[in-house]
Amino acid sequence: NAIAIAIDGPAAAGKSTVAKIVAESLSYIYIDTGAMYRALTLKAIEENIQLDDENSLISLLERTDIKLKQSEAGQIIIVDDMDVTAEIRSQKVTNHVSYVAKHPIIREEMVKRQQSFATNLGVVMDGRDIGTHVLPNAEVKIFLIATVEERAKRRYEENSKKGYYSDMEELKQEIEQRDLIDSKREASPLIKASDASEIDTTSLSINQVAQRILAEVYK
Ligand code: C5P
Repeated sequence: NAIAIAIDGPAAAGKSTVAKIVAESLSYIYIDTGAMYRALTLKAIEENIQLDDENSLISLLERTDIKLKQSEAGQIIIVDDMDVTAEIRSQKVTNHVSYVAKHPIIREEMVKRQQSFATNLGVVMDGRDIGTHVLPNAEVKIFLIATVEERAKRRYEENSKKGYYSDMEELKQEIEQRDLIDSKREASPLIKASDASEIDTTSLSINQVAQRILAEVYK
């Protein structure tokens, strides 16, 4: 029986890495909701839209098509038929996305789109409000945490592998700043759903985390 799995948590806690492994091992679809907020942010920056101008952002979202597609190289993000998979991970988008994601009407529309992706097939969805708002009836809800030092270290290593150097202090500050905005916003803030299982991944491997989630699925 296919179920829905919601994975939430603060920035850089390993949500997407683990969600992909869990989805793959169950042959479920994986939906990266952060990529959708990032895609809108990228387009807003390109079109010089003020990120506190909710009305302009809403009309931008209305004329923006966002698709998540499975390719051999993994999930790709298509905005209006353009592949933006790499661009939405830029530091600029990362630094601005929380200002776009805090607008309540933007969130309402994103949640609708995300819910429409979650068909009756099995789904693993990751984000900040999946267990609380997007899939409140998900059979399995996970809240992943790790110390900010560990999360910055993982981001640092990820960046090094891609060939670029980052400043550990700056990474830490960016992560903390994003978590602060995401947790303090009024509309569906980053918070653990009351019925979610919290997993502290600080000293766990990716595989150990995936195994714990799969254990919840088979419980
Ligand atoms: O998961 P990721 O780090 O790519 O998310 C980028 C940003 O998108 C988050 O910092 C948050 O501001 C926003 N987001 C959100 N709700 C979600 C997923 C992401 O507000 N469900």
